[in-house]
Amino acid sequence: MDSPAVALPVCPAAADVPPLPRRRFLQISAATFAAGAAASALPPELAAAAKAAAPAERGLRTVATTCDICFWKCGAIATVRNGRLWKVEGNPLDPLSKGRLCTRGTGGIGAHYDPDRLQRPLIRTGKRGAEQWKVASWDEALDFTAGKLKDIAKAHGPESIAMFKHGIGAHFVEHALKAFGTPNVAAPSFAQCRGPRDVGFKLTFGTDPGTPENTDIENTQCLVLIGSHLGENLHNSQVQQFATALSRGAKLIVADPRLSTAASKADHWLPVKPGTDIALLRAWMNVIVREGLYDKKFVAEHGEGFDKFARDIAASTPEWAAAECGVSAEQIRSTARLMARTRPATLIHPGRRSTWYGDDAQRGRAVALLNALMGNWGRKGGFYQHEYLWLEEYPGIPKYPKSGRGKADNGPMSGSKDRKTWPFANQTVTTGLREATITGQPYPVKAWVVDATNLLQAMPDRDRTLKAIDALDFLLVIDTVPSEIAQLADVVLPESVYLERWDTINDDCMQGPFLALRQPVVEPPHEQKAGWWIGRELGKRLGVEAYFPWKSIEEYLQVRTEKGGYDWAEFRKNGVIVGKRPPMTVEEGLELSFDTPSGKVEFWSQQLADVAAAVGKPGFEPVPQYTRPEDGPPGSFRMITGRAPMHTFSRTVGNPRLAELMPENTVWMNADDAARLKLISGTRVRLRNQDGVVSDPVALTATERLRPGCVYLVHGFGSQSKAWKSAYRKGASTALLTTRVK
Ligand code: SF4
Repeated sequence: MDSPAVALPVCPAAADVPPLPRRRFLQISAATFAAGAAASALPPELAAAAKAAAPAERGLRTVATTCDICFWKCGAIATVRNGRLWKVEGNPLDPLSKGRLCTRGTGGIGAHYDPDRLQRPLIRTGKRGAEQWKVASWDEALDFTAGKLKDIAKAHGPESIAMFKHGIGAHFVEHALKAFGTPNVAAPSFAQCRGPRDVGFKLTFGTDPGTPENTDIENTQCLVLIGSHLGENLHNSQVQQFATALSRGAKLIVADPRLSTAASKADHWLPVKPGTDIALLRAWMNVIVREGLYDKKFVAEHGEGFDKFARDIAASTPEWAAAECGVSAEQIRSTARLMARTRPATLIHPGRRSTWYGDDAQRGRAVALLNALMGNWGRKGGFYQHEYLWLEEYPGIPKYPKSGRGKADNGPMSGSKDRKTWPFANQTVTTGLREATITGQPYPVKAWVVDATNLLQAMPDRDRTLKAIDALDFLLVIDTVPSEIAQLADVVLPESVYLERWDTINDDCMQGPFLALRQPVVEPPHEQKAGWWIGRELGKRLGVEAYFPWKSIEEYLQVRTEKGGYDWAEFRKNGVIVGKRPPMTVEEGLELSFDTPSGKVEFWSQQLADVAAAVGKPGFEPVPQYTRPEDGPPGSFRMITGRAPMHTFSRTVGNPRLAELMPENTVWMNADDAARLKLISGTRVRLRNQDGVVSDPVALTATERLRPGCVYLVHGFGSQSKAWKSAYRKGASTALLTTRVK
């Protein structure tokens, strides 16, 4: 070791752009271009920045790009003022933002000015997790990384390298690794988030709701939220549509143990006991079928196995469900009738994060079946059909090599050689890769490349993740901040934030197909590099340069755009290309088709019945069954988790602009429960789970807005990374407390 070990360095650029006081920041964000142009009106901190700016950069410059504070990728216009990034606003041409960003999106400049940013490549010098590093040049770090990956591939095959990723920024690193020969690429956004929902919908309709979801919230007459707190879960376009629907008078039914912001606006709030959703869903379907309120024409034309389904749910009466769910039978009945009155423009939102009790794919299927009874698939106010403007790949890129060993994540189910552990998972399962790393089965996994996902917060059962990391020969982390997973890396590569980089083109659909471009607005402040650059440089060193035949990233994007018949200059100027909306609903002339084995909507699933017959295990029933969740130890509370509108999980908790709005989470407790325990709001408490894991201290919020017997925490807080100073031990980590996994 020829360089001294150092702590993770602090970003000096931030020192000359101090965080603005919140009120001033909000005023500036709301300013018009004309008002902002008055140099004499600049606040002192921006005036100082203006003075420091190069003469060529004086004045205003705007760039159309896409937000990456969450994965939604809203179109944005970033303004550079006197050489400094000044503000980010919605792009009016963009179908996702329609000219407005969400709370988090407007805080995007905080990501650029974040004083905790990783600045330079780092190579570990001390024990894993001791946070001792040497600063390396990019050549040194990439040569070292490629050497390690090649050695591991030589010893165990290229499949022994697994990638964990989140978001579009990881595209080119994924490309390099797939070209090198690994099929093991996983995102927590599947197995820890929307995967069970997608599987449930796919088993029913043959397709999943996608991302963004194909939900026509804007035109719905009745929106049902179950396990979704839209508004706090702030997906910009959906929230705008939600507001439009409510102002039009759409009915709102919310089933949630917590009086969420959405529930506070609902016509009916059902404060269900956590873990009883399938009981409620079965009872709703029971009322709708028993009273003949479903869409009989849709079921007759497109349904498969309806009679067997109807028989299965016949005993799930509202009275039965009321005892399980803790809401009244009358409320179950009246909300079911309300849904039926407005069909097909009734939408039971599929939600996103739906990974809770181990019966989540069946829960997702029950949501899909209730929608099917509304006959809302392909209907205005229900689910429209996704359409895309697919762009061809850049010419000459070879096909990925095919692995003879297949993926490592989804080995045979115990007791069945012929079935995979998760027979219907259509993406790689993160927890499966983690198990393969620990057990070495079906083959050794010896290296992880973790790109833009803080696995210690994103995956449950931290000890298992740490055990897997212990079994690795090499861990590469690519990130913008020194997250908890970065603490444990052998090499850390600092990625530029979205306002400093190109990414691949986003071909997406929001009420119609469109393309969106992310392009750099400002330079990275230090030696941070974009994902496309890291992917290509790593690819060269791994010997897969042929997969990167383009001259520059701009040329790559331009060729793809022009091959699609679009104007590159216009695309750069506008940031989006909006396609013509083809028929996407029956009302517009869409012919319905379903990609299931029967070609119909499967009320009774033969696919599930086949697995159930073969393996004889619960969970694969052809119609979703309810299992009462286990009780916790006496006196314990059930922890439920959610989101805050100013944060995207752990990703933003250190962002100075957003942390100012919410620096840490609090633990909500029902006011009566708190009084019984003699606790008042503001008391700092620690939470201990059933396995003895204890959280950091967290302030209590005693509230009427939560059902008794539960505690509620916003996810993403309680980071244990010392180098991430702004986030270190702020609040309590829900991931730390989630030690049991089904
Ligand atoms: Fe950015 Fe908000 Fe859109 Fe996410 S929803 S991309 S944070 S503006």
